[in-house]
Amino acid sequence: MRIVLVGPPGAGKGTQAAFLAKNLAIPHISTGDLFRANISQQTELGKLAKSYMDKGELVPDEVTIAMAKDRMEQPDAENGFLLDGFPRNVSQAEALDEMLNTEGMKLDAVLDLEVPEDEVVKRIAGRRICRNDSAHVFHVSYKAPKQEGVCDVCGGELYQRDDDSEETVRTRLEVYHTQTEPIIDYYMAQGLVVTIPALGKVEEVTARSMEALAREDA
Ligand code: ADP
Repeated sequence: MRIVLVGPPGAGKGTQAAFLAKNLAIPHISTGDLFRANISQQTELGKLAKSYMDKGELVPDEVTIAMAKDRMEQPDAENGFLLDGFPRNVSQAEALDEMLNTEGMKLDAVLDLEVPEDEVVKRIAGRRICRNDSAHVFHVSYKAPKQEGVCDVCGGELYQRDDDSEETVRTRLEVYHTQTEPIIDYYMAQGLVVTIPALGKVEEVTARSMEALAREDA
């Protein structure tokens, strides 16, 4: 299956994507993770991306689309993928369609994770992520690690993302409303959107998503 996950920052896209990708046996492709990997390897792309990410702005389309395309062309993505954080505006969505059309492929579903805005802010402010694996996500009050600052899963160091500061979160939400939300209409027009209420336990949200995908697939 070829799936796109949409939702505001803090909706739990990364957490859900990790579970769904595993259940569906397709790669989880996160442009945010790809940028963060470039930042930690100090590549030119990483340096460029960081200057936008730290402000909560979108990295320019040209480099983002090229990076996403390159990842989607890897052999493990031949039979499907779960996109998380891409596309993030209408021109990226158009570029993705064009890319898929050329290969005679299409998207199967767009899952829209819905979370109230005040909840999003609370989630992001307390979020802590493992340096070893961004799928190991904790929260200082909702999902505290057994030992402060240490990942329960692998013992890695937990840190707060540079762009999770309150001021940057406000910009990210603004960018989400103005630039990313329009892709929901874009995909509605293609009949691809399934709305998933994303409040509640992680497993409940995963179950809702899996049910929705099973319906889409039928
Ligand atoms: P979140 O979903 O919590 O906002 P991500 O890890 O998906 O976090 O993205 C973090 C940052 O990476 C974004 O604020 C943006 O600067 C950059 N980014 C990620 N994906 C894209 C994209 N498709 N286009 C442009 N910028 C992106």
